[in-house]
Amino acid sequence: MTLDIYRRKRRFDRTPEPAGGPIRPPDDTGATPTTGRYVVQRHRARRLHYDLRLELGGVLVSWAVPRGPSLDPAMRRLAVQVEDHPLEYFDFEGVIPGAQYGAGDVIVWDWGRWTADPATADARRALDEGELKLRLDGEKLHGAFVLLRTGGRTARRDQWLLIHRRDGDAVAGWDAEDHPASVKSGRTNDDVAAGRRRRRRGTG
Ligand code: MN
Repeated sequence: MTLDIYRRKRRFDRTPEPAGGPIRPPDDTGATPTTGRYVVQRHRARRLHYDLRLELGGVLVSWAVPRGPSLDPAMRRLAVQVEDHPLEYFDFEGVIPGAQYGAGDVIVWDWGRWTADPATADARRALDEGELKLRLDGEKLHGAFVLLRTGGRTARRDQWLLIHRRDGDAVAGWDAEDHPASVKSGRTNDDVAAGRRRRRRGTG
């Protein structure tokens, strides 16, 4: 577990993103975590994508999901694992200046808690083995999902699918792009890019 790659890619005198402090894994007896916070950020970089981040072992384990998560089990979303991010990134919303890594605007599109499937004793190990079944309980996302590595154990280990499982929370045709406002501020990416202040929830 390291933030070296995260830090190497960024210049913290030029980006508003957090550098993060030392990694402090939860110091509770060494039991492996099976639940934590999650966040999904809508990141309008050179190419629009959504970043899914699970709090695990003192960092945010992260995937870039080009088309965004869906509640529709038929929409199997490509998710490319990217470098672990610091916990301080959890509520980051802002503009990453041009010429910096990930230049563009970021909103907190959804947040809540993830919980591993009851049969999963160790979420880190499940990820190492390429399949994590989990529940997401957020403001937009709900229900059972699976993160499934498709690249095999050798080539393209960063390629995963994010799929909503068939359960009572599944919604046919559900598209992330139909739900554009930040759960933190009510703002859209356009609002953040234009420097507009927080909107009151429910007014827009
Ligand atoms: Mn991103």
